[in-house]
Amino acid sequence: MDNQDKKNKTKIMPLIPLRGISIFPYMVIHFDVGRDKSINALEKAMVNDSLIFLTSQKEAKVDIPTPKDFYHVGSVCKIKQMLKLPGNTVRVLVEGINRAKITEILKEEPYYEVELEEPTYNSEVEKDKETEAMMRMLVDKFEEYVSLGNKVSPDILITVNEIEEPGRLADIISSYIHLKSSNKQKLLEAFDPYKRLEILHVILQEELEVLEIEKQITQRVKKQINKVQKEYYLKEQLKAIQRELGEDDIVGQEVEEYQNKIDKINMPKEVKEKAMKEVERLLKVSPSSAETGVIRTYLDWIVELPWGKETKDRVDIKKSRQILEADHYGLEDVKERILEYLAIRKLSKSMKGPILCLVGPPGVGKTSIAKSIAKAINRKFTRMSLGGVRDEAEIRGHRRTYVGAIPGRIISSIKKSKSKNPVFLFDEIDKLSSSFKGDPASALLEVLDPEQNNTFTDHFLEVPFDLSKVMFITTANTLNTIPRPLLDRMEVIRISGYTEEEKLEIATRYLVPKQVKEHGLKEGNLNISQNTIRAIINNYTKESGVRNLERNIANVCRKAAKRMVEENLKSVKVNSGNLNKYLGIPKFTYETVREEHQIGIVTGLAWTAVGGETLSIEVTPMKGTGKLQLTGQLGDVMKESAKAGISFIRSRSDELNIDPEFYKNKDLHIHIPEGAIPKDGPSAGITMATAVISALTNKLADSKVAMTGEITLRGRVLPVGGIKEKVLAANRAGIKKVLLPRDNKKDMEDIPDKVRRKLKFVFVKNMDEVLEHSLIKEDEKNEDN
Ligand code: ADP
Repeated sequence: MDNQDKKNKTKIMPLIPLRGISIFPYMVIHFDVGRDKSINALEKAMVNDSLIFLTSQKEAKVDIPTPKDFYHVGSVCKIKQMLKLPGNTVRVLVEGINRAKITEILKEEPYYEVELEEPTYNSEVEKDKETEAMMRMLVDKFEEYVSLGNKVSPDILITVNEIEEPGRLADIISSYIHLKSSNKQKLLEAFDPYKRLEILHVILQEELEVLEIEKQITQRVKKQINKVQKEYYLKEQLKAIQRELGEDDIVGQEVEEYQNKIDKINMPKEVKEKAMKEVERLLKVSPSSAETGVIRTYLDWIVELPWGKETKDRVDIKKSRQILEADHYGLEDVKERILEYLAIRKLSKSMKGPILCLVGPPGVGKTSIAKSIAKAINRKFTRMSLGGVRDEAEIRGHRRTYVGAIPGRIISSIKKSKSKNPVFLFDEIDKLSSSFKGDPASALLEVLDPEQNNTFTDHFLEVPFDLSKVMFITTANTLNTIPRPLLDRMEVIRISGYTEEEKLEIATRYLVPKQVKEHGLKEGNLNISQNTIRAIINNYTKESGVRNLERNIANVCRKAAKRMVEENLKSVKVNSGNLNKYLGIPKFTYETVREEHQIGIVTGLAWTAVGGETLSIEVTPMKGTGKLQLTGQLGDVMKESAKAGISFIRSRSDELNIDPEFYKNKDLHIHIPEGAIPKDGPSAGITMATAVISALTNKLADSKVAMTGEITLRGRVLPVGGIKEKVLAANRAGIKKVLLPRDNKKDMEDIPDKVRRKLKFVFVKNMDEVLEHSLIKEDEKNEDN
């Protein structure tokens, strides 16, 4: 197209540099003129032929532009109208005529006067196919622009469609679209109409892309707004429906109440979010559906859990000691261990102390000392019994999909304690059992693990609850059945049974005053002597702890209270003589020890979960074929221990003066009475062997001797456990001499002095010594008789 024939005209006319506007040929526009120089130029133009050259300033902010500050290509315009405005401003209406280029600046003052060149193109009249195609494309694009942009009136399209001249088409479209000033100038400077079409095409294309993106963004925003509006609308509708049904107020109020409560509680963000979501769900589900009930239960739990509630620990060890002392008699080393433990916790707050495990027979005060610990450090106390817990869900709760689901017992107990740092007692951890319904022990393990328990998640709550501030204490009757990984986490403190004297002290100092108070009696209302209490201990209870003793004392108090009211008495006296009126006939007699020495009956000492006991082991040999029968619910270890004893006897039959063929021609029956109580362990080994020897040799066994110890095939005596409990039991039963394995000598420390003095202890290392001290020799027998 460059070879187009050009006819250049030169013209001289005044110039006005415009700020922020570019004027294209065919464009009609008005603008205000204020600068003196520009007004001068206008006046000059009016004097001549109303023609003026308008060009754009490169920078709109320049006030007094020099020739460098404006473009040298602009439009020759015809002034159509002029209007003087107040304040020396003139509003002009102009029409673009033709583009032109400055060839020379003739004058700068009092206005710019320039010499111009106005190239004219033939193509305005004739156009080839390519130009035609380009024009159509441009019109299409412009239509697209109009449809997207909405900024141009669609009428313009009709005008544009009718334009035949390519240059004019480009100029008209340019004047309608929104362009950057640099692009406008580019279009102005394109004198060649075809070039102009091309440039405009590119610019329009770019502009269309931007518009497309703009449209997408707008749509997106609109969509979001629409969604919010829709939800709002639907909620309003729902409210209207509920109002019609007369349900709106209840739900609305409820939701508000929950929201207020949740807002006020200091709970973790995650929990708050979850709770609020549930509250919103309450609005969506029908108030009469089962789902509402589930949500309500859930929210009630969330609202009532002590998320941020904590009690402040007492750190005064002296005070703590006083509290422990005031509540419990004796238990010195237990108290000491607890105080040490508290001291360490005080020194190092961050230290996650081991979990205490209090082990001992029932009724020795494990639960009550745990309560005292809570009191001593000023924490709330809560307790959960693990006895018979089989289902993991009892610990961790049921998922909400179950009908009537609630959280597990851990969360329930925490809720009851109203504090996130209570003393939490797991009672009877040794009775935990596992079944097909998951393993409660492993759930418990997580609860007790300081690394994990800060995010303990109950199935029902679905959000974690921090258990790391809780002080866990556990109790057990025996360590044997505690799952190993649990045991490893705990620091074991043993509490053994009490002697008669200790029980007497506990009863007089603690149990009697406590029960008197609980039964509404006053001090002095009940007179009960020490001897009477002793009688209760010996004739009405048989236990290591004091639980039954307390129960019996309670019975006495109840009956005493009744008598006082019925007979209008000031006080009641209970003594050994009238005790059976209160408690019925004595249930136990402790002088159970046989007065007479007998053949084949030996007293053993056993340790059971309920404390120490004496066991009479009986052996009867019968003519037979060497069968060994064991009865009385004996465990496998105990049976094996009996067999080991028999083997020892066979190997020593000569020295023991026993028929070496006894295992062929005699049947032996070993029975341990009180068959209802299962017994196991190796510690009756020497007792069973002694009973068999006594039976086979027809020697009397001393009825005042009791023994415990494991036997080996060679007749050595090995140490056993539970010495204190066993010795206390022997003492209770009126035994005089106790045979203990030599290696158990160290356990004597645990035995109270009073008991130690009353009994004779023999430490044996083999069966010879056992027999020496337990069988009555011929000469002694005579003496005895
Ligand atoms: P456990 O938990 O070991 O089975 P408990 O804590 O239930 O035993 O104790 C039973 C009762 O005996 C409680 O009332 C407790 O106060 C009382 N008791 C136990 N040992 C003592 C003690 N050493 N001093 C005072 N009271 C005691």
